[in-house]
Amino acid sequence: MTLTYTPERRAELSEGLSQVQARIRDAAEDLSGARTKASALPELVVVTKFFPASDAAALYDAGVRAVGENRDQEAAAKARELVTYTGGEDLLRWSFIGQLQTNKAKSVVQYAQEVQSVDRPQLADALSKAYTNRLARYENGEADAPAALAQKGLRCLIQVGLDTTVEATAGQAALGARGGVDPAEILDLADHISSLPGLTLGGLMAVAPLGQDAAAAFERLHSYSQKLQEHYPEATTISAGMSHDLAEAIRWGATSVRIGSSIMGARPGL
Ligand SMILES: *Cc1c(COP(=O)(O)O)cnc(C)c1O
Repeated sequence: MTLTYTPERRAELSEGLSQVQARIRDAAEDLSGARTKASALPELVVVTKFFPASDAAALYDAGVRAVGENRDQEAAAKARELVTYTGGEDLLRWSFIGQLQTNKAKSVVQYAQEVQSVDRPQLADALSKAYTNRLARYENGEADAPAALAQKGLRCLIQVGLDTTVEATAGQAALGARGGVDPAEILDLADHISSLPGLTLGGLMAVAPLGQDAAAAFERLHSYSQKLQEHYPEATTISAGMSHDLAEAIRWGATSVRIGSSIMGARPGL
């Protein structure tokens, strides 16, 4: 079985996990930003992109229940390999965190509980259609259920572009490689997502802009989240923070962090 891993790899991953969990706990104690004593500890999503399914199996055995992937082909193959390993009652959840073409929506709804990178209405439309089609085929006995059926719909986060050096009028195509909607468009996209069958609105996601102050960017993200929650009180998720900036993200209210290299090691080929 390809899902076997060496004791050495398991030990390496467990060590990385404990270190990151300690960094999360430390950061969560900093009350100088948006956190209060009552704030919950942020959730950890381990980003397994570029690493084999056997690593995801090792992480699962070490207690991880949420992983993130940014390319459909790779994610779909891994999720398929792991389905009997992690697909029982105590499920491993798959979050899609990368730029997504609409023609991949059909594939994504088969394995993902969540898409964190919804950045345009057309993508929400495609995900809704893919989810509801899959559900109808499942109800007819023609296909497996969509992965998000147990939670009654695919959770969507709106990816927000935080790069202030990009002209607001240039539109999303110009928002740079890191992607995301213009902050001024968050509410329109939220209205759109919540009007569509099969989707639920979970909150916001962002990547700190390269070469800019991450804390300042995450502070803005927090204010966008507060505005969103005035209209959608249940959309409380703020997914922010990667290996190098998780402390700043948590200080500014991240409820979920996406950590790859600090746990997995340097990505092969990068
Ligand atoms: C790869 C990736 C991460 C993880 O980055 P690390 O720096 O390896 O922790 C987080 N978020 C997104 C969107 C990614 O593509």
